[in-house]
Amino acid sequence: MNEKVTLREVGLRDGLQMIQHFMPTDRKKAWIAAEHAAGLRAVEATSMVPPKLLPQLADAEEVVAYAATLPGLRVTALVLNLRGAERGLKTPAHKLNYVVSVSDAHSRANVRRSTEEAIEDFKRIVALLKTVDQAKRPALGVGLATAFGCTIQGKVDEGRVADIAARLVEGGADEIALADTVGYGDPAQVKRLFRRVKPITGDRPLFAHFHNTRGLGLANVLAALEEGVRYFDASLGGLGGCPYAPGATGNVTMEDCVFMLEQMGFETGIDLAKLLQVRKTVEKDLPGVPFYGDVARAGVPKTYRALAA
Ligand code: ZN
Repeated sequence: MNEKVTLREVGLRDGLQMIQHFMPTDRKKAWIAAEHAAGLRAVEATSMVPPKLLPQLADAEEVVAYAATLPGLRVTALVLNLRGAERGLKTPAHKLNYVVSVSDAHSRANVRRSTEEAIEDFKRIVALLKTVDQAKRPALGVGLATAFGCTIQGKVDEGRVADIAARLVEGGADEIALADTVGYGDPAQVKRLFRRVKPITGDRPLFAHFHNTRGLGLANVLAALEEGVRYFDASLGGLGGCPYAPGATGNVTMEDCVFMLEQMGFETGIDLAKLLQVRKTVEKDLPGVPFYGDVARAGVPKTYRALAA
């Protein structure tokens, strides 16, 4: 038995929110269905933001409702505030993912409130979820944005990341994600921070969310893996970007993550050959959008374990 690693597709949220035009709802559904057929079992399908702010995700409810029909697929919806959580609760999402930016400057610039105010809203969301019958209640994950650095304030204190993670866990978070929102993280820092936060999250899933902004995406995945992290966000074709770094690449590429992990003997459940086919289809659906990733470019080597098996 190989050790399992969960990869969560975030391209439909982190990726599509960076793309100007609207991807038709039926093509989003086709993407999720095809990646699910390739073995994907976790997806962040959308974000519950007002359509006025992000018209790309105006079909949030419909996308979540569809994704939740696929057997075994754990569907997450991002929520940025209490109102988003109220919307999310009306969908069949298995998990709501809330965001707290560790950098106060980033929090104010991004969602126009301080980190403390974001934590207050988290408490209101927990209270809201407690009004729902426990068997029907979605899990609540919290992503700690700018955990590895911030484009506005620069360095983010690691002790502050750990303190906020502890407060969120005590306050009722079911999962924590450490997010390198702007691609500042390096493997040594990743190791230090996950080593520090892991005892705080205990048995709860601890996700790593990396961007490949400066080419360290996979190196950071490996560093977190070595610290025992078994949950990772990634996006098909490395879709996405960074609003503060024009021209920057997006999330770590799903195909490259699957390749590295499977080749190392971990079990992702994802069929790499099928995944590369999904990429081709989605690429056609998003004309003019850059797709990244080295495995798609160079091909799967003869020594790949899934082919050899
Ligand atoms: Zn991100």
